[in-house]
Amino acid sequence: MTESRTYNDIIAGADQQDDDDKNYKEEKYLGNYLRFKMKREGKRFWAGDNISEYIDNEHVKAQLIDEAAEAFELVLDRLLIDRENDPNSKGTAHRLAKMYFNEVMAGRYETPPDATAFPNNSADRYEGMLVVRSELRSMCSHHHQPVSGVAYIGIIAAQKLIGLSKYTRIAQWCARRGTLQEELCNDIAREIMKATDSDNVAVYIQAVHGCCENRGIMAHSSLTQTTVLKGAFNNDGNTKKEFFDNIKLQQEFAPR
Ligand SMILES: [Zn+2]
Repeated sequence: MTESRTYNDIIAGADQQDDDDKNYKEEKYLGNYLRFKMKREGKRFWAGDNISEYIDNEHVKAQLIDEAAEAFELVLDRLLIDRENDPNSKGTAHRLAKMYFNEVMAGRYETPPDATAFPNNSADRYEGMLVVRSELRSMCSHHHQPVSGVAYIGIIAAQKLIGLSKYTRIAQWCARRGTLQEELCNDIAREIMKATDSDNVAVYIQAVHGCCENRGIMAHSSLTQTTVLKGAFNNDGNTKKEFFDNIKLQQEFAPR
């Protein structure tokens, strides 16, 4: 565990005149300082929230990973796992910390994917429906168990288009957090609307949940489906039907 090597650099730019901040600069953990800062600024930092504006350089993240590793060491100790002699448990605390920040919860700490939009305003512009199938990996915020599934994102093209891979990048950015499937469905719809300026967006997710498969009811074939329908997908029966017909065609093409 390296001693807060960059901590002073990191907070050097913080509000020098603020007495509360001064107290927090004595604080050993950067994580505690950032939690204080978010509370003071009214920033919500639930498991499904993106807080990338507070992780504004790689030193911050490296420091937070070190601090989380130290905390995971304590968890392993409390679980009575011999992390000093068990070769498989030796680096586990640090592996867990890195995995949370860089993989399973990466969408909390990373800025939104760059989704450069292209104009869709020529005379022969595309006005039809687009349905993109996106593989999802997420984690439930209740049990930190894996959630894996597929999102079908439907959109009626508006004045701008984004690259096809961007739909999946946005969906994954929303998913790589601690989520509830219901919230995730909403989050993806909102971010796609933001990136495309389209009011007509639909998201259907089907996923299996580790918290139902590996524990609790141990249901191995349970599938959870959620749907969010906006604009024409919600108030036009034909649009809604076309979306679900397209999903069926996609599922025939690539069964799940
Ligand atoms: Zn759960």
